[in-house]
Amino acid sequence: MVTLDSILLFVLFFLPYLVTSHNNNFYGLCLSNESDNQPHHNIVHAVGSKNYQSILESSIHNARFNNSNVPKPYYIIVPQNKEQVRGAMICCKKLGFESRIRSGGHDYEGLSFISYKPYCLIDLSSLRKIDIDVQEKTAWVEAGATIGELYYNIGNKSNTLGFPAGTCPSVGVGGHISGGGQGRKHHLRRLMRKKFPELKLKSKDCEEMSWINSTIRIDSYRKDSRIEDLLERNKEKRLTFYKTKSDYVTKALSEKALQGLWNVFKSTGDGLVILTPHGGRMSEILEDAIPFPHRKGVLYNLQYFALWHHPNQTAEKIKFDWVNGVYDYMGKFVSNPRTAYLNTRDLELGRTLIGNEKYSETKSWGEMYFKGNFEKLARVKYSVDPTNYFRNEQSIPPLAP
Ligand SMILES: Cc1cc2nc3c(=O)[nH]c(=O)nc-3n(C[C@H](O)[C@H](O)[C@H](O)COP(=O)(O)OP(=O)(O)OC[C@H]3O[C@@H](n4cnc5c(N)ncnc54)[C@H](O)[C@@H]3O)c2cc1C
Repeated sequence: MVTLDSILLFVLFFLPYLVTSHNNNFYGLCLSNESDNQPHHNIVHAVGSKNYQSILESSIHNARFNNSNVPKPYYIIVPQNKEQVRGAMICCKKLGFESRIRSGGHDYEGLSFISYKPYCLIDLSSLRKIDIDVQEKTAWVEAGATIGELYYNIGNKSNTLGFPAGTCPSVGVGGHISGGGQGRKHHLRRLMRKKFPELKLKSKDCEEMSWINSTIRIDSYRKDSRIEDLLERNKEKRLTFYKTKSDYVTKALSEKALQGLWNVFKSTGDGLVILTPHGGRMSEILEDAIPFPHRKGVLYNLQYFALWHHPNQTAEKIKFDWVNGVYDYMGKFVSNPRTAYLNTRDLELGRTLIGNEKYSETKSWGEMYFKGNFEKLARVKYSVDPTNYFRNEQSIPPLAP
């Protein structure tokens, strides 16, 4: 009889051999057959190879996921063109690996570079071509570009065009836009005068600047920052650890509710609560028009964000307790049913582990992110990926008709 122990022993014993033979497969048979005929050295980096660690870490922004306990990919593949993306996916699947796709690497739970089964990491950071058509007011952007690179390119071509995306320039276009992508496009003074006249904001309290300069200022809050700073992919790579959760507010919070929030803030540690206004054009789009469903009726998105700099369990516990304390307190004031923003990924809402979980097991957290669109997305998923190869711990499961 084959026991689990003997299978494990077999796997451990043969692992080095499997890695070497897979490596040959990748170079020799698989990638060259499945993609173009260009040389593939520098594209496939097997675990233990010279550049493996630096490439792996190049886009890990949350230090919570940069330690020896976190699973690592067997291969990192850095495609230089779309044919190689295709080849890499086919190879990984053929060789029995799962795949993880990484653009900017900002996923709050590290899902773009972590899997608990043997896996390849397909890192899109070399695919960052950006074409701006000023006449048409459109841009074609490859998924591995960052939003900072996009801002920079728009700013270089036009003084009047802009693109309202996130505040942190090193966030990847691939993850940011596919997850919703909320950003700024404010005419602050006019808005403040209309909505909050009691604050008496005057011109002299404001500093006029171009959109491109405002993108740099909001990121660094420094007067001496340069437009080129937007191109730094790893700028904020310090030893920063963080955890977030999110909510949507559909009914204005009372003063009493805010006072209570302030008390939770003071009593349980520290962190940030970020309010991102919705409405305007966002609420004109119907809830089921595209996957992002947080539309009409949403006043603003709330993000509870805790950050720490020293890796120890006590610090982590305090910060997690703070985020969870604020989240628990806010439960009665936010949207009902409770919802969440996909880009504020939160595995505490639920996750899949094996990959063949039933749709019904994923509904509770899936509908928080996608509301009624979740079922539709699961049916589309079945039609394009019935075996659920493209997955992570919070991906959309296939739902058969
Ligand atoms: C410091 C910081 C600041 C942030 N600021 C904002 C903000 O202002 N506004 C906002 O809305 N969000 C913000 N976010 C959240 C951010 O938008 C999300 O984390 C987003 O998913 C990051 O995209 P990425 O490409 O950098 O991440 P990745 O980790 O590379 O990807 C995120 C997810 O998308 C998948 N993915 C990425 N590329 C592809 C692709 N080409 N094809 C298929 N799947 C893909 C990954 O597998 C992963 O599941 C911020 C996050 C951080 C850490």
